[in-house]
Amino acid sequence: METLKSYNPATGEVVGEVPVTPASDIPAVVARARAAQPAWEELGLEGRVDLLRKTAEIFAERAEAHGELMTKEMGKPLKEGIGEAKSLAYIDHELDEIVATLQPEVVEDKRLRSTVYHDPLGVVGAITPWNFPMSMPAWMVLPALAAGNTVVFKPSEETPLCGQAYADVLNEVLPEDVLIVVHGADDQGKAIVQSEVDMIAFTGSREVGKHILRESSGTLKRVVLELGGKDPMIVLEDADIGRAAKFAARNSFGNAGQVCVSTERIFVLDSVADEFEAALAEFAAAMTQGNGMENPDVGPMVNAGQRDHVLAQVDAAVEAGATVLAGGTGHSDNFIVPTVLAGITEDMDIASVETFGPVACVTRVASVDEAIEKANDTHFGLGAVVFGQDQADTAAVARRLTAGMIGVNSAAGGAVGTPWVGARQSGFGFHKSPDGHKQFTQTRVVTTRA
Ligand code: NAD
Repeated sequence: METLKSYNPATGEVVGEVPVTPASDIPAVVARARAAQPAWEELGLEGRVDLLRKTAEIFAERAEAHGELMTKEMGKPLKEGIGEAKSLAYIDHELDEIVATLQPEVVEDKRLRSTVYHDPLGVVGAITPWNFPMSMPAWMVLPALAAGNTVVFKPSEETPLCGQAYADVLNEVLPEDVLIVVHGADDQGKAIVQSEVDMIAFTGSREVGKHILRESSGTLKRVVLELGGKDPMIVLEDADIGRAAKFAARNSFGNAGQVCVSTERIFVLDSVADEFEAALAEFAAAMTQGNGMENPDVGPMVNAGQRDHVLAQVDAAVEAGATVLAGGTGHSDNFIVPTVLAGITEDMDIASVETFGPVACVTRVASVDEAIEKANDTHFGLGAVVFGQDQADTAAVARRLTAGMIGVNSAAGGAVGTPWVGARQSGFGFHKSPDGHKQFTQTRVVTTRA
């Protein structure tokens, strides 16, 4: 049997291995999930949610072990791994929200009385990335199941053990074949997309998202795509520069920059640029780096391929005239030193292609209009951030940004209950929120005369 080995990016050691699912087996796997779906639906929304609620206690008990596994498999600092693992236990609010959102609604006019139902779609294929190897599955698998679908889930080939550990917890409470894990890489992902599943819920890169959209057109499968970004940050003249620089350092270098809403492009007004660049370079230089198990600020890149992609972008930018204010292409194994580049111009690859590494790129601008224009000059549109003291001015800048989620003196992600949403080529559809929950359902309207 072919196996998939998982390597620790900090040490090169094998963390474990899983059996690869032959791509040719996937139609049969989907058929099993299809056969299990009617009984799962029959349990009713409340019945399903009651079962899923039981996982909270198991996730809480295993948070330390799951956190450690994440650190070993993909490198993030242990405290962040444990934080992500703990978040899996806080599902009550989401499950309550799902129950409230998916209730039938009655709508009447003078003549007609309609009931709007939110029925399951059938079988959902969930395909996930490695950067948040347990919360990304949770964001898609949990609402898909609660809505009454069965799920065929493929975790990233970089983090199969985390994906398996996530599914193992759910499978302690779920009936057989309601959630089935398949392991593998592109071939298995493609086979799920080509299979008879009713929906693909995908979180990953823009390139793979485009492929999935093309491939799904044959059967007009429902597709939700949560893709990459090239998030901008605007630093206005009246910003608290120390705070802005600290935020930029955290948001550019956290998880070694391997975050979809990482700050990759910073546009700073000329008059405060010297102070901002110096502060950001200082924060970058002070960051500790090492094996995630020792809880540094920054761990390794997930693998050599991702490392080389980042280093190539930095090299090319420097060759084209960018200035290194901190870090640079010096590295050891998979560790890239947090890097600040200034003097970024539009023609550089690093100005437009997702970096997904610990690199912050600063561009000076002469006006707020120029900052907004440059921030919006991207095919992506996931998150964006604005820093400034004047509330009205800062909010007005935020409203002119074309991203899906905009943070004002704060990260891009919104309050609990709001959607995680990308604009433009950062995908379409939602993670979480009532908008997100409804994606996993087929709306049906039954009408009688009033
Ligand atoms: P990726 O697109 O390379 O892989 C994601 C998943 O798709 C993996 O499971 C992979 O095996 C599978 N896959 C690969 N080729 C496939 C194909 N042709 N058909 C079907 N499945 C296929 O992405 P990655 O490197 O794992 O993750 C990083 C990317 O994810 C970044 O672009 C990041 O911005 C994005 N991301 C987005 C969000 C969001 O919420 N928008 C969240 C996390 C990560």
